[in-house]
Amino acid sequence: MSKVLIIGCGGVASVAIHKCCQVPEVFTEICIASRTKAKCDKLAAELAPTTATKITTAQVDADKVEEVIALIKAYQPDLVMNIALPYQDLTIMDACLACGVNYMDTANYEPENTDDPEWRAIYEKRCKEAGFSAYFDYSWQWAYAKKFEEAGLTALLGSGFDPGVTQAYCAYAKKHEFDTIDTIDILDCNGGDHGYAFATNFNPEINLREVSAPGSYWENGHWVEIPAMSIKREYNFDQVGDKDMYLLHHEEIESLAKNIPEAKRIRFFMTFGQSYLDHMRCLEDVGMLSTTPVNFNGQEIVPIQFLKALLPDPASLGPRTKGKTNIGCIFTGKKDGKDKTYYIYNVCDHQECYKEVGSQAISYTTGVPAMCGALMLLTGKWTTKGVHTVEEFDPDPYLDALDKYGLPRSESHNPALVD
Ligand code: NDP
Repeated sequence: MSKVLIIGCGGVASVAIHKCCQVPEVFTEICIASRTKAKCDKLAAELAPTTATKITTAQVDADKVEEVIALIKAYQPDLVMNIALPYQDLTIMDACLACGVNYMDTANYEPENTDDPEWRAIYEKRCKEAGFSAYFDYSWQWAYAKKFEEAGLTALLGSGFDPGVTQAYCAYAKKHEFDTIDTIDILDCNGGDHGYAFATNFNPEINLREVSAPGSYWENGHWVEIPAMSIKREYNFDQVGDKDMYLLHHEEIESLAKNIPEAKRIRFFMTFGQSYLDHMRCLEDVGMLSTTPVNFNGQEIVPIQFLKALLPDPASLGPRTKGKTNIGCIFTGKKDGKDKTYYIYNVCDHQECYKEVGSQAISYTTGVPAMCGALMLLTGKWTTKGVHTVEEFDPDPYLDALDKYGLPRSESHNPALVD
């Protein structure tokens, strides 16, 4: 029924591609295109005997709009799934606009080079005006809204777990559980253990940038920014147990504040073990998280990229990681004039994911929603034109698809709240 171009062939893309191949009646043909074609060929060879989906591969540098345009023109897809890195969001959106194709991704735009003076001037103005200093924000992609609308196209932003499913949980709570939502706490717990003293569960550069940035939350119509890791809480997670979690800035807070304007407070917490935090602080203190190139023996080296080369490849953590993730949202608000609380979450087992698709749960919990987001667009469940985040669409068919394809929801109507 559909032809889909998937850009990227890393940890998350690999799961999304496995999942597309489980739904060949929708994903009739896919083209896996990435910077390193050999990775695409390897995955295609592995999957071809197991699926009716017709798989082809291609090489593309998605930093170059003309290369993406040429590939789209040659392949003629119904949808482009960007599962490369946030650095490529804008070039791939430009190519989709030029070719008249729908677009989706799993993370909002951030620049690879945060020292670029042109970007930096806009960034510093935004920090002052908006009140948060993360390198990533929606403004760059929201700026495409009119162009996508006028072209009659849809760009679905951030269809991973968080962002992604967490926003569908918010839309679901708003549609079925509350008349008004007062507070939203998004809780992301990884109870998995890979046995390494330090490793990141997805792209190290993106991950370390995210967790070393100042934390922030939305309260009474504005951002409150705090030093990184300075708000800590303990929470007892279903099927995982007690974990320390820390308040982080996270991209979906920005769109939720816009789309659920009655929410008085929106926070995001992620669990971290002491070993991860100690290593991260040390790496930051010695400058290893810097994105500014340094000259070493006559060669330019970007410290965080060098660190990435030293750390275990997240894709290799699959066989080693044991335990479960638990990610969801706790709401307080009102229904029929009465106060109520509600918690909706998913629990995912690292080893089960590995058995099914050869990846750990972090890639799995992102790759499955990427496939389900594509499914919504390709089957005409989500058709609004323009540039939209997940909470702007009907959550019901998306959550049904997640239940069916590996990320079933759990609920509590009497959850412990986070103070
Ligand atoms: P990986 O680093 O494992 O994979 C990235 C892939 O993109 C690689 O195949 C890489 O190719 C390819 N790529 C990088 N640059 C280019 C380029 N210029 N042109 C073409 N291909 C390129 O990342 P992950 O799979 O861990 O993450 C993928 C995305 O998912 C990221 O945007 C990340 O932020 C997002 N994410 C979202 C989450 C959510 O819940 N919403 C959670 C986790 C991740 P090569 O092999 O040559 O390097």
